[in-house]
Amino acid sequence: MHNSALGHAETTRRPQVVVIGGGFGGVRAAKALARADVDVTLVDRTNHHLFQPLLYQVAAGILPPGLIAPALRRVVAKERTIRTLLAEVHAVDLERKVVRAATPTEQTLELPYDYLVVAGGATHAYFGHPQWSRFAPGMKTVDDARMLRSHILGAYELAELATDDAERAARLTFVVVGAGPTGVEITGQLAELARHVLPEDYRSIDTRQARIVLLDAGPSVLAPFAPKLQDYTRRRLEEMGVEVRLNTAATAMDHESITVKGPAGEERIVARTKIWAAGVQASPLAAMLAKATGTWTDRAGRVAVNPDCSLPGADGVYAIGDMVTTADRLPGVAQVAMQQGTYVGKRIADRVRGDTSTPAPFRYVDKGSMATIGARQAVAQVRGVPLTGYLAYLLWCYVHVMFLIGWGNRLGTLYDWLRSLRHARNRGHRLIGPTGATAAVEEMPAAA
Ligand SMILES: Cc1cc2nc3c(=O)[nH]c(=O)nc-3n(C[C@H](O)[C@H](O)[C@H](O)COP(=O)(O)OP(=O)(O)OC[C@H]3O[C@@H](n4cnc5c(N)ncnc54)[C@H](O)[C@@H]3O)c2cc1C
Repeated sequence: MHNSALGHAETTRRPQVVVIGGGFGGVRAAKALARADVDVTLVDRTNHHLFQPLLYQVAAGILPPGLIAPALRRVVAKERTIRTLLAEVHAVDLERKVVRAATPTEQTLELPYDYLVVAGGATHAYFGHPQWSRFAPGMKTVDDARMLRSHILGAYELAELATDDAERAARLTFVVVGAGPTGVEITGQLAELARHVLPEDYRSIDTRQARIVLLDAGPSVLAPFAPKLQDYTRRRLEEMGVEVRLNTAATAMDHESITVKGPAGEERIVARTKIWAAGVQASPLAAMLAKATGTWTDRAGRVAVNPDCSLPGADGVYAIGDMVTTADRLPGVAQVAMQQGTYVGKRIADRVRGDTSTPAPFRYVDKGSMATIGARQAVAQVRGVPLTGYLAYLLWCYVHVMFLIGWGNRLGTLYDWLRSLRHARNRGHRLIGPTGATAAVEEMPAAA
């Protein structure tokens, strides 16, 4: 069934801007257009704007999902020229300038545009082994993080119930694949849970005996950081009882175990919990745009865009964030997506005002990188200056809380952080999902 959602166009005849994706890039682009003489339609397949950098805290039971995923509708409530639609985009007709999207009830929406911004983000890549997603879930969405939380906490529940030593050990072994910022942050939390948060709460098991392994195919943890910070992070993790295995890749996986190959040869680690924090694959929207315009994509499926983020051969179409590649090969981080969003929004506003000049290319301003290692410990490099320990942790807290949307979410997050710091043995959101521990651990659904 077709449903033409011409929306603002029929009533006001102002230029129509469609923004696909209400993540970091899409929201910034829409907001940059709030004062322009246009109507903006922001379409997303979820109803929330997700702050992915704090997903691992949902998985670790520190924060509830609502604090890091405010309703998209609320995020743009004050901007009266922006409307949001809950629908999944499946096609873009570049000739007719129409976006096609499916509503939750399978209706097809047709959204005509004068300008289009595509900011569909990225998903997991399992390096040619898509079946691994069943055994080693990753973290990209709120549902992923909730499922992971059930999975991790369920492992302890099942270890408490186990009557067999081998079974108990398998339940208490956790392997994280990928030692980038996400892998390090979730590993730090696994260690905190095992060593500090959970020991008092169990009677049959000593959670401090949990085995936590972090592996990476490369030679270092936190590859994008300075060597000094990499060494610090590795040392801290090892002090927290984590086995850090570098130059070590996953070669096989099933429900019971993971096989890894490293300098000492191949080894099968019996572990019921495997977490994937390794590869990234651009949204399928990137390949769709590339095919329609004859543009190339890189190995991660990111579509190449011009220096002004416009799509070659498609006037008025821009693509930004994790799903694009540029000549200067920018990293897939929130700051890039946000800055590109603001840049593209301003560029469209200029064009609507009649500016036909060639725009200055997009320039990324790197404000620094940071990652936590556990409670009270982090590393940061800000304008080339490396910081470690509690100071870096406080800086990390400040930056992350300020980037959350809404004071309610900021205060709620601060409260939960203070609670988990002051009472380090507490995690306020240790819920196991409705599927229960067994389902969470034994029957991970394949990633979408
Ligand atoms: C666990 C994790 C931790 C991270 N930590 C950090 C960090 O500490 N610092 C940092 O800078 N970066 C971090 N990142 C990366 C950062 O989150 C991304 O670079 C950023 O989100 C990219 O923004 P984006 O707008 O391109 O995509 P996203 O923010 O992912 O937004 C994409 C949006 O598009 C929507 N969408 C996708 N396809 C469709 C479709 N077909 N139809 C409709 N809607 C669609 C999605 O629902 C989503 O809302 C992290 C990422 C993850 C997963």
